[in-house]
Amino acid sequence: MIRFDDRVAIVTGAGSGLGRSHALALAARGAKVVVNDLGGSVAGVGQSSEAAQRVVAEIEAAGGTAMADGANVADFAAVQAMVARTLETYGRIDILINNAGILRDKTFAKMELADFRAVIDVHLMGGVHCTKAVWDHMRERNYGRIVFTSSASGLYGNFGQANYGAAKMALVGLMNVLRDEGRKHDIRVNALAPVAATRMTQGILPPAAAELLKPEEVTPGVLFLVSDDAPTGTILGAGAGSFAVTKILETEGGYFAPDERNPEAIAARFAELSDPATARPMASASEQTLRYAQRAMTAAAQSAKQKKI
Ligand code: NAD
Repeated sequence: MIRFDDRVAIVTGAGSGLGRSHALALAARGAKVVVNDLGGSVAGVGQSSEAAQRVVAEIEAAGGTAMADGANVADFAAVQAMVARTLETYGRIDILINNAGILRDKTFAKMELADFRAVIDVHLMGGVHCTKAVWDHMRERNYGRIVFTSSASGLYGNFGQANYGAAKMALVGLMNVLRDEGRKHDIRVNALAPVAATRMTQGILPPAAAELLKPEEVTPGVLFLVSDDAPTGTILGAGAGSFAVTKILETEGGYFAPDERNPEAIAARFAELSDPATARPMASASEQTLRYAQRAMTAAAQSAKQKKI
């Protein structure tokens, strides 16, 4: 059984929805949990400590250990203070679930830049701030489990969510790099693409779907992503009892001789270049660089050989 006894977890945005469910489940399996929540509206307006305190009371009523924290994840100083308080109280941090989020949906044509920035500040910079604040501690202790909450809106696109989609996909880029930088210190970094009926999706999901899409159905996936035997660099989709892994793949593509390097030649071979049957994941950016360089070197060597003949 996967347990979190002696582990300390920070869950951001844990006053409601998915974060609340993750916090309750971690505590039920033995973790000490910092229930962070700013307590504003879905659009990120206002603040209140009530929601986080309610979740702490629920955890304590069930015999668990938790403390509330009202840090705004968009404010690095507040996040640093939360991390300092956690270390003072519990002495360590093993798990960070970056979950806090807001929405400011509008088509890009109608979107004010202030609404774009606000969403980037909470989702992307919030994740950066919390991760930065625990990173050295996790490196020193050679242990860390970090989850970024991404979204299908970023992975696949969603009309009216340019700010949100950009932030959610940026978190995948952050995960890809931290996966490599954290490896030596057993810091495993994963992303979650959840679907759940929460106040964020109220009015978007039909009531029948909402009944199936409980936040509690997502949480087992997160618990796996922060467990001792977690993978790293995985994007896990979760909702309504389904779990799936999203992969970023690159097709085999093709090599173009120097006299073929023009847009017409690319257009002529575009179907071949996009053939999904040849697609595979790249382990890192350098695998792509090496692949292109090696192909060019092989082609150059072949052409030199032909010239000799
Ligand atoms: P929710 O609104 O119930 O929860 C978000 C929580 O984050 C709220 O309690 C809110 O007070 C808190 N929060 C907002 N800004 C904060 C800040 N600056 N600092 C600290 N806390 C802050 O919504 P949810 O659906 O549970 O969303 C949780 C996460 O899951 C979000 O990142 C969201 O984008 C993501 N997500 C949700 C769905 C879904 O279907 N519900 C789909 C994809 C991604």
